[in-house]
Amino acid sequence: MNYLNTLAFAQEMDANDKLKSYRDKFYFPMMNGKKTIYFTGNSLGLQPVSAQEYVLNEMEDWATFGVEGHFHARNNWLSYHEMFALPLSKIVGALPEEVVVMNQLTVNLHLLLVSFYRPQGKRYKIICEAKAFPSDQYALQSQVRFHGYNADDAIIEIEPREGENCIRHEDILKAIEENKDELALVMFGGVNYFTGQVFDMKAITEAGHKAGALVGFDLAHAAGNIKLHLHEWNTDFAAWCSYKYLNSGPGGVSGVYIHQRHLNDASIPRFEGWWGHDKATRFKMPNKFIPMQTAEAWQMSNAPVISMAVHKAAVDLFDEVGMNALVEKATLLTGYLEFIIDEINTTLKEKLEIITPRDKTQRGCQISIVAHGRGKDLFNKLTEGGVISDWREPNVIRCAPVPLYNSFADIFTFGEILKSSL
Ligand SMILES: *Cc1c(COP(=O)(O)O)cnc(C)c1O
Repeated sequence: MNYLNTLAFAQEMDANDKLKSYRDKFYFPMMNGKKTIYFTGNSLGLQPVSAQEYVLNEMEDWATFGVEGHFHARNNWLSYHEMFALPLSKIVGALPEEVVVMNQLTVNLHLLLVSFYRPQGKRYKIICEAKAFPSDQYALQSQVRFHGYNADDAIIEIEPREGENCIRHEDILKAIEENKDELALVMFGGVNYFTGQVFDMKAITEAGHKAGALVGFDLAHAAGNIKLHLHEWNTDFAAWCSYKYLNSGPGGVSGVYIHQRHLNDASIPRFEGWWGHDKATRFKMPNKFIPMQTAEAWQMSNAPVISMAVHKAAVDLFDEVGMNALVEKATLLTGYLEFIIDEINTTLKEKLEIITPRDKTQRGCQISIVAHGRGKDLFNKLTEGGVISDWREPNVIRCAPVPLYNSFADIFTFGEILKSSL
């Protein structure tokens, strides 16, 4: 693509954008009567306009039916969560029976670790990424301690090489091979939240299995952002949140994937609750647990319908658009943002450094910039100019142009505001 740093070019790209109508299906925070340039869809996605109606429907059905809403609501609440299996399976590349929506992300990581971190003898170590999102580190450390191990010994963190920002895949695969006799689990992010680096989940899964370990991914920054093929990759388990790229509101419900081969394996430990019990006999309230034959066996509690209503509104949009069209536009948008920053750099003595991989196949819709020699003052100026981005101390700006609602004109205007803020 031959990009141009002109408003006319950006407007032409927008005019030819097959997804352009989706921008109006989201509420943007406003500033001085204008839509802000919203580049934090990787942190909290925007609200679908339809979400309020979806929530209102459930509130009305609750008012109308009371407890009978479990059966008579327009989307009956007993099986509410079942509506997500098919559309989410398309988003993460799984079979519908491998997917369930429940709880929140860190809670689900713990529940999955109960099942898939099973240290035995000298096989007790976990390989993960250094500087993962802290919640994942806390989860892994506390799980390791729970099993009686020392986290410093049991957790092997793979970091970028000295002077580099991203982790080299060869270093991940080498660490897996080197620790193969002691490895119980490999748990990586799908996309690193800080640099936006996409990890090679297929290769990591293969290497982990070859070493005799189980392999899982935290897809918080991957679900709804990049193409995933969890089933085909043979990944054992994964979890994601719904409020980042999936636009399902603050603290929205999380999703879980468990590979088919684990679904009816009675030898796998699991924390259980009534919503994981066979639905045909659930309300007979038997005292012996008979698991669902799907990932639903991991559900503990009945579904939080109000929060799931928001998720439904968002997932319906994803289902309409499909990941192929989203990724196609995301590649162009992110490439345009990269181009604009490179253009601005030609005028700067102290350059902005892009730490997200330059290789399109190793990133989703995020560009992280190190603003060398500049402080938070730059970020504040961007904010005053109407840009909502993310600042990480000491000087990193993360920008996520999201294909569902960001436009090429957003990126052009961002460039103009960035220039005048420098
Ligand atoms: C956003 C994020 C979380 C947040 O966890 P919650 O339990 O949803 O609060 C955890 N891990 C990663 C990798 C994230 O990006």
